[in-house]
Amino acid sequence: MTPSTDRNQELFERARRLIPGGVNSPVRAFKAVGGTPRFVARAQGAYFWDANGKRHIDYIGSWGPMILGHGHPAVVEAVQKAVLEGFSYGAPTEREVELAEEIVSLVPSMDMVRLVSSGTEAAMSAIRLARGATGRSKLIKFEGCYHGHADALLVKAGSGLATFGNPTSAGVPAEVVQHTLVLEYNNVAQLDEAFALHGKDIACLMIEPIAGNMNFVRASVPFMRRCRELCTQHGALLVFDEVMTGFRVALGGAQSLYAKAIPGFKPDLSVLGKVIGGGMPLAAFGGPRAIMEQLAPQGPVYQAGTLSGNPVATACGLATLKEIRKAGFFDALAAKTATLVAGLKAAASAESIPFSTDCEGGMFGFFLLPQLPQNYSQVMQTESALFNRLFHGLLDRGIYIAPALYEAGFVSSAHSEADLAETISAAKEVFQALSSRA
Ligand SMILES: *Cc1c(COP(=O)(O)O)cnc(C)c1O
Repeated sequence: MTPSTDRNQELFERARRLIPGGVNSPVRAFKAVGGTPRFVARAQGAYFWDANGKRHIDYIGSWGPMILGHGHPAVVEAVQKAVLEGFSYGAPTEREVELAEEIVSLVPSMDMVRLVSSGTEAAMSAIRLARGATGRSKLIKFEGCYHGHADALLVKAGSGLATFGNPTSAGVPAEVVQHTLVLEYNNVAQLDEAFALHGKDIACLMIEPIAGNMNFVRASVPFMRRCRELCTQHGALLVFDEVMTGFRVALGGAQSLYAKAIPGFKPDLSVLGKVIGGGMPLAAFGGPRAIMEQLAPQGPVYQAGTLSGNPVATACGLATLKEIRKAGFFDALAAKTATLVAGLKAAASAESIPFSTDCEGGMFGFFLLPQLPQNYSQVMQTESALFNRLFHGLLDRGIYIAPALYEAGFVSSAHSEADLAETISAAKEVFQALSSRA
């Protein structure tokens, strides 16, 4: 295609004149992998069509929300009906109550829930609530985990455990992150040391139980058990950020998986997003009644939102949850995901390309590494040039995976066996090309 007829390129140039980097969220710009972002014209089922009219099999699915694929008929119908009733009232609705009932019935650790509009907002509010409820300031997060872009959470590891983190973004004053302690994921010794040093001041420990923002790294069972024990022992709250994993890895989220491995296990607070909105701006946080009642207007912790509990977003979320709670939904989805990653692994192995992979429900990750990494520094050992060639090889063949090596992938119920087979055979071609050029 000549440059003058490449609509993606044309749109990207227009966008860059008006929107910083040409995008409204950084990873969309393809900065890590190079090349021109695909501008999406429309999407249906497992596919989207870009501005040139080219079809792609979509393994990003809006970064997780589209678990039913694009334009699921039951969801479209619910949204159309809701739109005709009004876009937003700034007053309570029955649908919010229904969605809250649905969420607490699926996530047993939550007695009460507050709806917001983005995962960032939910994580930020959960931290404020944890600090308000405990009367403490410090928080623990882990290197490689992303909890949205609230100031106190945009932190990378400090130089030692006695010191606190450094901002990862310009515009975040050091004083704002001086209470944020950043530890290595899956490192029990560091966790013990941090609680020994700071235990009485720690309001909460926030964690992605399966870290999808460093591709796909599970918190080990012993590590998670220790997180729970130390929080309980020191009076800190264990906050599960399940914005990505909630209703995605299992109907009850990642916490339902840890509860199988650790009897009686539950987090104190949970943060949800992505799938619960089914593609509309909707997120939530919740937990036990005694903690949630600390929120305004009942309690002293302020939190609010003009569009919170939006009637169109809640209709979309409710219709999505109704589909995914049908019997057998997650078994079928997990089987598809497993087929995909097994096929990719076989394709890589045939060409002696190092490849490790893991998946759960409709979420998967793979690494161009011989073994699954356990923490961020191991994830970063991936050879990014090799990943970039894989990414572009797949993209050329109409397979759309995340344009960065530290992002998880998503399979939807709309992906057919034929879509998976097409993906695997495209991957075979790309791995062959990579190994012959290596
Ligand atoms: C996506 C994500 C967020 C942020 O959600 P937004 O809706 O993008 O603000 C927070 N935590 C995790 C684990 C996420 O994957």
